[in-house]
Amino acid sequence: MAIAPEKILSDLIRIDSSNPPGNETAVALYLKELFEEAGVQGEIIEPEEGRGSFIVRLGSDPGSNSGSKRLLYLSHADVVPVGEGWDFEPFSGKIDNEVICGRGALDCKDLMAAQVSAALQLIDEKVPLKGELIIAATADEEKGGLLGVGYLLEKHSAKIEADYVVNEGADHPIKLNGKMIYFLQVDEKGTAWCTLKAHGTAGHGALPGLADNAVVKMSRAVSRLNNYRSEVILIPEVEKLLRKLAELCGIPVQSLGPNEVDNLLEEMPLEIAFLESLRSMTRMTVSPNTIRGGSKTNIVPDYCEADVDIRIMPGQDLAYVEKELRLIINKDIEIEFNEYRTSTFSNAEDPFYRLMQDITLEQVCDDAICLPVVSAGSTDSKFLRSSGLPSYGIGHMAPGFDEQSRKTIHGRNERTDLASLQLKTAFLKQLACRYLS
Ligand SMILES: [Zn+2]
Repeated sequence: MAIAPEKILSDLIRIDSSNPPGNETAVALYLKELFEEAGVQGEIIEPEEGRGSFIVRLGSDPGSNSGSKRLLYLSHADVVPVGEGWDFEPFSGKIDNEVICGRGALDCKDLMAAQVSAALQLIDEKVPLKGELIIAATADEEKGGLLGVGYLLEKHSAKIEADYVVNEGADHPIKLNGKMIYFLQVDEKGTAWCTLKAHGTAGHGALPGLADNAVVKMSRAVSRLNNYRSEVILIPEVEKLLRKLAELCGIPVQSLGPNEVDNLLEEMPLEIAFLESLRSMTRMTVSPNTIRGGSKTNIVPDYCEADVDIRIMPGQDLAYVEKELRLIINKDIEIEFNEYRTSTFSNAEDPFYRLMQDITLEQVCDDAICLPVVSAGSTDSKFLRSSGLPSYGIGHMAPGFDEQSRKTIHGRNERTDLASLQLKTAFLKQLACRYLS
């Protein structure tokens, strides 16, 4: 009998892989041993000491069957630091009343446990695979992923190349008018982070009229950014999502263009966090998040800078962002872009997407609904999609899951429930069987 997913998850939680520093090699060693016990040899690729990623391949030999199908199950081995105020020990991995507790229980050691458990079950049951199932548990996602998937794509891309990738990234399901709605993530917004720089003239704080205050200049710019209303953009997948949600809310929608989106969002009786997520799927967001300026109460500052987190839509680029910023902030403020990545996208009309959708509905109930979503944030899928590997994110949870638990991701008291972990495992097992059959 293959080892149960809850046992794997509990073991994984007990390995502290908080990033920084990471220590993902400990996770990789644990997984390597699990597969060795099942008779399959995996490997650990370690760009820096302690920062290893684990890869194992199941199914046909790639050398003898190079044209066959390949499916990659991806998860990340690192977790965010725990912080204070937990009601239980964050690295205990305790299972209490069918709840599995600890850092990583939802982001995303649960996905890792489900992928690994599904693979071990396939080995145990000697299920023949026409092609390869590749499991990769990678380092560094929580700090940008350059030492994990980024490194693998740069140095060992052949090891993770696949026709399709299944990763984390979708919202958890919601319940609307009695129906469970499941999401498959097809798109992640891009980033255009920048630093704004305001220059002025220093002077005595008692005679401010003789100086030119850079902090005041910047505060005007920040205030304008806060009032900025970005253009609404409706990509086909999000239009489909909004129309379906409106239908379930009993709101008649004839035409749905960018001008109608905000009125529709106001009408829909959805949870505020999900509404905000829908809002972010339809526009660029601009959030000025840090400001630095001045050194002393009695000196008028001659310099101030602010960092702005900007998330862009498909089709938007740096030139677009700069043009928009220039419309709202004075030209004497410099704009320096320091991180830029376009939005990445995988097709929601693809047969593999439809297969994921079909299996989701079969696993839950025929009455559920499955819809594509765009993430405001990003995962390692950004690297894979940019390299041409179609990637889909899941966030499957069992009907009746504790909705409060979703707020524990990156927060206190992270936990998941046994039924959700079993649902993920069954979904991934079935998906591998069907795609590689
Ligand atoms: Zn994650």
